[in-house]
Amino acid sequence: MSGRKSLATLSVRGGEDRVKPDNAVAQPIVCTATYSFTSRREIADHFEGRIEREEYGRYGNPTVRAAEKRIAALDGAEDAVLFGSGMAAVSTALLALLKSGQHVILTSDCYRRTRQLVGSFLSRYGIESTLVPPGDLAALEAAIRPGATRLVVTESPTNPYLRVADLPAYAAVVRKHRGLKLLVDSTFATPINQRPLELGADLVLHSATKYLGGHNDLLAGSLSGRADLIAGLRDLRGVLGTLLDPHSAYLLQRGLKTLDLRVGKQNASGLRIARWLEARPEVVRVFHPGLESHPDHVTAKAQMSGFGGVVSFIVEGGLEGAAAFVDAVRIPLIAPSLGGVESLIEQPALMSFYELTSEERRAIGIEEGLVRLSLGIEDADELIADLAQAFERSRVPAVA
Ligand SMILES: *Cc1c(COP(=O)(O)O)cnc(C)c1O
Repeated sequence: MSGRKSLATLSVRGGEDRVKPDNAVAQPIVCTATYSFTSRREIADHFEGRIEREEYGRYGNPTVRAAEKRIAALDGAEDAVLFGSGMAAVSTALLALLKSGQHVILTSDCYRRTRQLVGSFLSRYGIESTLVPPGDLAALEAAIRPGATRLVVTESPTNPYLRVADLPAYAAVVRKHRGLKLLVDSTFATPINQRPLELGADLVLHSATKYLGGHNDLLAGSLSGRADLIAGLRDLRGVLGTLLDPHSAYLLQRGLKTLDLRVGKQNASGLRIARWLEARPEVVRVFHPGLESHPDHVTAKAQMSGFGGVVSFIVEGGLEGAAAFVDAVRIPLIAPSLGGVESLIEQPALMSFYELTSEERRAIGIEEGLVRLSLGIEDADELIADLAQAFERSRVPAVA
């Protein structure tokens, strides 16, 4: 398609040719491990880049390629590449962009497994790292080691407090240093709410398991950016084998068709339910970037076109109070993950951070009574009524 289209149109048709194989309207699932050639001539044309075609399943698949082009269109990127999970995308990117003797900076609240990969694994290969507090640009500048630091990894909004990084400010710091790149994990925002490449990032990462797939039925991860950077990542995917299978790619591109619709509804429910929670006596504090009370609300308003469907809040009564409330909720399912059509609820102290002690959780800022609610696309009035009945049923009797 020519010309810059709206995100609603790009969700359905972005990156797509008018005619698909067999004149199909839906994307065919090309279920093959390898691809045949008709002649030595065709093999030469392929390897010398005169024709665009597939060769072997680990290097590419047409169903996966169609989903990649859709994501590139949504992110406003020259190209995108898909992986078998968000962490496969993170791992491949870090291994592609860093080598022994180099240094990477992460914001301290970025995805836990990303921090683990860097701190416990890449460190074994001579890649050093520094964690800087989110939003602290002076700490970011101070952590940069000229010549050695090659990558800054940040995330926005973050889990579970929905901190928002001022991406243009991060990009301005990164651009002052030759060879330094900015990778933004934009999973919580989706291209509907935030386009980091337009704000100065070099690469944008999504765990497509979350909003992009949107139905809690697949795992996938994507990276979007300049064509030459993406080509390097695709090459390494072919070496590491961190690829996405065509069935999941089909589900992903099908999910993407409703991305704009779903995220629009999730944005509306998120803000409405965040405001409703703020007025509840059982709630100590609510975190949602759309709330005026959120520490990053001004930044969020400047760089996001919607604030997302994840709301975190602290319930009275600590670990027990929050657990009783979560158990009493009926519509949201108790589960990790976020961004799908089903509302999901979890208590980070009892799920993502289960193995830590209370002291360790406190040290990294995970409140015992914290609840994370990822809104799906159910009716917002019914979700509110459900949360209200859960507060009533789980209320600790007041001490006389
Ligand atoms: C879930 C998640 C990931 C990891 O993605 P997987 O698809 O689970 O591997 C990375 N970053 C963020 C922000 C996530 O929420």
